[in-house]
Amino acid sequence: MNDPILFLDLKKQQRRLGENLKQRVDRVFDHCQFILGPEVQELEERLASYVNAQYCIGVSSGTDAIQIALMAEEVGPGDAVFLPAFTYTATAEVPLVLGATPIFVDIDPKTFQIDPCHLQSSIARIREENNLRPKAIIGVDLFGQPAPWDKLRDIAARENLFLLDDCAQSFGASLHYKKLGCEADATITSFFPSKPLGGYGDGGAIFTNDPEKAELYRSLRTHGEGKTRYQVLRTGMNGRLDTLQAAVLLTKLDCFDEELQRREMIAQQYDQGLASIVEIPARVANSQSAWAIYSVLLSDSEHRQKVQEHLKAQNIPTAIYYPLPLHKQPAYRKYHNGSILMTSEDISERILALPIHPDLTDEEVNRVIMAIQEVHQ
Ligand SMILES: *Cc1c(COP(=O)(O)O)cnc(C)c1O
Repeated sequence: MNDPILFLDLKKQQRRLGENLKQRVDRVFDHCQFILGPEVQELEERLASYVNAQYCIGVSSGTDAIQIALMAEEVGPGDAVFLPAFTYTATAEVPLVLGATPIFVDIDPKTFQIDPCHLQSSIARIREENNLRPKAIIGVDLFGQPAPWDKLRDIAARENLFLLDDCAQSFGASLHYKKLGCEADATITSFFPSKPLGGYGDGGAIFTNDPEKAELYRSLRTHGEGKTRYQVLRTGMNGRLDTLQAAVLLTKLDCFDEELQRREMIAQQYDQGLASIVEIPARVANSQSAWAIYSVLLSDSEHRQKVQEHLKAQNIPTAIYYPLPLHKQPAYRKYHNGSILMTSEDISERILALPIHPDLTDEEVNRVIMAIQEVHQ
């Protein structure tokens, strides 16, 4: 039996980070400022400069980052928030928590990113129906690649909508040689352990170039507080990033670029080994992926199951992102008008994610490739 390959190997990464990680964390235990300690501000400054944004606000999770960004726009009942049907649940959950209605938009069959044409026609439909007020677009950078930001910005400007970048999966990716973080009115990311820049717990951040919004986000992050601690200006939340996570992330940031390069190498190795037998991921033009996820397309769900089982028998894990598009989920289908979102539905039946993390060895990647080749002989 072959040794198990891991889908994510945080143990190996921890060993690689070694003493630096321990020292960073020990310093927090020494000063005991566990909430908004100095590491949080240090991390915010480093992340802002990493993506070339004016402001970064560290928050408790990617989901809370979306919530704070939408609360700042006063998104609420009667508002329509447009987002892709093919994404993680959090993107659709937050508008609903705030009383707004998610409008599910189909995706591009090659890049799996939100389809600007379908977005445009969805906005037109909502305006025509005249029950909901179009308020915001959430573009999601899916799997590590950027959404079509040039087009999304045009649509948002023309329609006068707030544009949010859900960059939870793609921190570190770039478009036109610029790191994602400044493509929309605000950008959020997540430090969930499996994301490209992952902590050892929950965490997230919001990026903006608008000083007033930055102040508002900081206030919302701490119960709507004002300039002094017990002045409450607005309804906020407990949405702070904790100091220990910031310390972990500061250590990880030191080797983040190397990790991104390693992920790119693995993606290329997969491409070479698999291009002739399955559909490999298409690249978004003029971009560099953060390779949160490397997904291939198989011919149908039976084919996918066959590949998945063959790999599992060889101790190779795979995952399906996402087995059901959001407009078909029990929690969300009542917010959908019943129309077929053809590409989201088709892709969800055929997509399969292979292991991709910086500590995979070339031999392990080869084992995955050979196992997939075997199914096709
Ligand atoms: C992970 C993820 C989130 C939520 O981030 P958390 O930190 O887990 O709350 C939001 N959107 C997308 C697309 C994600 O993948």
